[in-house]
Amino acid sequence: MWSTSYDIIIVGAGVAGSALAHALSTVSDQRSQPLRVCLLERSLVEPDRIVGELLQPGGMAALETLGLESCTDGIDAVPVHGYAVMLNGTPVHIPYPKGREGRSFHHGRFIQALRAKAKVAPGVEVIEASVSELIECPVTGRILGVRATRKAEDAVEKEAFFADLTVVADGCFSNFRSTVMGTTGVKPVLRSYFAGAILEDVELPIKHHGTVCLVKGHGPVLMYQISEHDTRILLDLKPPLPADIKDVVLNEILPQLPSSVHLALHKVLEKDRLRRMPNSFLPPAEQGGTHTKEGVILLGDAWNMRHPLTGGGMTVAFHDVVLLRDLLAKVQDFSDWKTMSRVLHKWHWRRKPLASTINILSIALYDLFDEFLNILRVGCFKYFELGGECVNGPVSLLSGIAEDPFLLFRHFFAVAFYSIWILFTHPRPHPIEGSDKTVLIRPSLAEYPSMAVRSFYCFWTACIVFLPLMWSEIRWW
Ligand SMILES: Cc1cc2nc3c(=O)[nH]c(=O)nc-3n(C[C@H](O)[C@H](O)[C@H](O)COP(=O)(O)OP(=O)(O)OC[C@H]3O[C@@H](n4cnc5c(N)ncnc54)[C@H](O)[C@@H]3O)c2cc1C
Repeated sequence: MWSTSYDIIIVGAGVAGSALAHALSTVSDQRSQPLRVCLLERSLVEPDRIVGELLQPGGMAALETLGLESCTDGIDAVPVHGYAVMLNGTPVHIPYPKGREGRSFHHGRFIQALRAKAKVAPGVEVIEASVSELIECPVTGRILGVRATRKAEDAVEKEAFFADLTVVADGCFSNFRSTVMGTTGVKPVLRSYFAGAILEDVELPIKHHGTVCLVKGHGPVLMYQISEHDTRILLDLKPPLPADIKDVVLNEILPQLPSSVHLALHKVLEKDRLRRMPNSFLPPAEQGGTHTKEGVILLGDAWNMRHPLTGGGMTVAFHDVVLLRDLLAKVQDFSDWKTMSRVLHKWHWRRKPLASTINILSIALYDLFDEFLNILRVGCFKYFELGGECVNGPVSLLSGIAEDPFLLFRHFFAVAFYSIWILFTHPRPHPIEGSDKTVLIRPSLAEYPSMAVRSFYCFWTACIVFLPLMWSEIRWW
């Protein structure tokens, strides 16, 4: 069964796909003919997921540029003014720069709002159909479109949809990533899992702020309010997952969280199963040229993923759509792969300042918060306590306001050196003989040799955390 052909097919009406479909409908005035776009989504029912619920101020700005800012209205979204980072029960306040705000919401409601915008966009056809394969030209190997099955009850046959360009935005579990990326061989690396639940009517240490609790023995715990009564909790667990997650949460993690959430977490553990999602890292490899398949590109999590600790995925996706919209608006023939390769090259490098900053920071911060790097973890916490630029710089990078990987480099190594300074100068608890109490004592000269070794280890760790991440972003093949 043959379907009509389009200029562009987009696979997946999630964050990136819906935004791109709408964005392409807004470039008609720059083209001789309006674009015909087909957006294929396997289920148009409101998604119920534990992902994409906090949009950073940088993402809000991109949403506004796309004319989609109203998507956060009328969905009971909550303003976000910054973060509170908790270590041993003490919060450090990390506000966003003055005048900047993020939003948190129920993911499904936000996605439905984005899809509604795509549905009414001129030239865009939204079809509920599950894509099962990419159609490849047997002679040239070029992707000509996709085969999909409509969701309608009587639809059993696969339909072919053709387009000059296919954009695959089918998310983190992409079925088509390896086909599109061909020989580049870039694969996601699993870093950890988030187990998630919704807490009812809890008060966070600082209202309208994302809360990050650093706990002993496990990864960080994230909490943010997503509607008037609901607060999302995400607990980071290292692979392999424990056989009884509830038991670990109840006995090992819950006692280290603010007491205001204990009751609600107990309640939710009694009645619900914790939902789980893998947290993977996937650096972006350049598309176009001869490296990847012709006629098709990846967008969103299908192409590039970072740790969700910093809530940067949607910010990167919207920013990518802004850049891609502006570049594609000038392309008259999407089947001209030479032109498309040049466009993809520009896109790859233009997105770097923001995307690389958010990608690197997410993994670097996740590693820094690991208790096995305790010197760096304490140093990072104390660095934030200094306030001023030591808070403003990192939070501007995290929230997608400052697009500057080199600023990130400066702050990251400033944390490393500050951690070493703290190691040498700050008093540490020492047990009092014959008692279970401790007393704070400054390190003595006799401890200097061992501290010198630990400082070297600290600096070395900072290098092996940061430099490979930087390299994954600047490599050009
Ligand atoms: C645990 C977790 C928490 C996160 N929290 C945040 C956060 O707070 N803030 C933030 O900015 N980012 C967050 N992220 C990242 C964010 O969710 C992603 O970056 C973002 O959703 C990526 O958008 P996407 O369009 O690429 O994929 P998705 O939004 O997942 O959309 C993919 C779409 O493709 C559809 N699809 C899949 N296969 C097919 C097919 N074969 N045919 C047709 N349709 C198909 C799916 O149904 C879906 O609608 C989080 C990620 C994780 C794992």
